[in-house]
Amino acid sequence: MINLKGIGASKGVAIGKAFIVKEQLAVINKKLIQNVDAEIKRLENAQEEAIIQLRKLQEHTLDSVGEEESLIFEVHQMILQDEDFIGRIKEIIRTESVNAEYVVQCTSDEYSKIFDEMEDPYMKERAADIRDISKRLIDILIGIKGQSLSQLDRPAIIVAKDLWPSDTVQMDKKNVVGFITEEGAKTSHTAILARTMQIPAVVGVRDIFASIKKGEEIIIDGAEGNIFINPDENIRNHWLENQKEYKDALEKLNRLKGTKSITKDGIEVKVNANIGMPEDVEMALENDAEGIGLFRSEFLYMNSDKIPSEEVQFKAYKKVLEKMQDKPVIIRTLDIGGDKEIKYIKIPKEENPFLGYRAIRISLDQVDLFKTQLRALLRASIYGNLGIMFPMISTLEELRRAKIILAEVKKDLTNEKIPFSSQVEVGIMIETPAAALISDELAKEADFFSIGTNDLTQYTIAVDRMNAQVAYLYDTHHPAVLKLIELVIKNGHKENIWVGICGEAAADLTLTEKFVAMGIDELSVSASSILEIRQKIQGIDLKKS
Ligand code: PEP
Ligand code: MG
Repeated sequence: MINLKGIGASKGVAIGKAFIVKEQLAVINKKLIQNVDAEIKRLENAQEEAIIQLRKLQEHTLDSVGEEESLIFEVHQMILQDEDFIGRIKEIIRTESVNAEYVVQCTSDEYSKIFDEMEDPYMKERAADIRDISKRLIDILIGIKGQSLSQLDRPAIIVAKDLWPSDTVQMDKKNVVGFITEEGAKTSHTAILARTMQIPAVVGVRDIFASIKKGEEIIIDGAEGNIFINPDENIRNHWLENQKEYKDALEKLNRLKGTKSITKDGIEVKVNANIGMPEDVEMALENDAEGIGLFRSEFLYMNSDKIPSEEVQFKAYKKVLEKMQDKPVIIRTLDIGGDKEIKYIKIPKEENPFLGYRAIRISLDQVDLFKTQLRALLRASIYGNLGIMFPMISTLEELRRAKIILAEVKKDLTNEKIPFSSQVEVGIMIETPAAALISDELAKEADFFSIGTNDLTQYTIAVDRMNAQVAYLYDTHHPAVLKLIELVIKNGHKENIWVGICGEAAADLTLTEKFVAMGIDELSVSASSILEIRQKIQGIDLKKS
């Protein structure tokens, strides 16, 4: 019997006593002040103190969790020093002669509302950062000391309305075995940190304070988002068993780090990671990715309110390449249209967007947009081992045209004496049955193929991947899809190019053996699936099956 249900934010089973974190809510009254300069000085002192606290937190996180996680506190420091934010607070204090904590609260509400109203879930979550920073400032101004999660004396499950990123990293990992929050989503900082720290967590649970009391025994099933309160003996034993199995499995997987993905009969398959943002590299490395098989670059565009400049893109690509050192990084050029929209790139309303103006079709039509991305990619190429990949190719001409534009960009860079690597591989995604069927010809002009089974399945079976009503038909195991995959691998190998899969099917453990038997060279999956796939591959023996 499940007592509460939320969003499973971090896998694993936790059993412990509830530790309720009641927020000490600051009472903020609006007060008129006489001495504006003194009030601004008070704000500046709080700002200084907040920066000191954040710097300490950043160092602590760097040591105890990792660099990527510690960066959030750098961002908080930057926001605190941002003239836009602090300047606005000072301006209101000056013009309205009101107390600093009141103005901080109003400015926080104003700014966080802007982020809250954004559609992009990543940007939405930034509202939490603004609130976190503002709360820190207000607590300092009012003199509130927060409840510390760093010194719990026994294993506890933290139950809180929400956890500030700063709370999560301070948690004493030994004694915090899990946490439950009323707010939050899968992409919130807290959820991401929980996954990195491998602490089971459930977020977005309604009415937790009415349902859970201090000291009650709680079980969390972080995979499914289930919570059991005061479980009986049977439920307790069941989950204890489950917890043991989960820990054993995790330990076994962790032991595979540093090993290769080779079958018992000696066939090696590269297992790479799919990423959506430069920050995801950390998780990829943590899970021992052998490279990045797909960097969906469109997220850079979707997280921006204008076309990201060449410089912004260059920095993002460089960051990924540097972090991956000499490991291969395949960056896919812009793939929008279909289900992915970008406000500032006009796509006319279409009857069938998945069959319309999308991916490479847009890049070949809006050449300036394409060239900006290619320049940024080539400039970044000297920092690592880059491959460029074109999405949604359906004709040979498209590949040729894309390569001509790439050659033009290379020529421009050469003329401008801007260096780029001469080793960049240029490959394509095989996502349309047309591309699969002419893969013999495409293989003569591409350096690699990466099969996008998500789209290949929808186009082969004529089933919209977004339509729940026909979802029963959407099946990568369909013999037509598998035949096309086999054909693509065969045609690629005839021309001595490597062939990978980067759609979701690459992580489908029930297909791994089939793909290996077909001769797949690479599987690119989300970071959390890498070790599972490696384990599966290491268990395969094609000679015996
Ligand atoms: C695919 O189609 O399989 C793929 C990897 O691309 P996306 O899911 O981004 O369309
Ligand atoms: Mg696709």
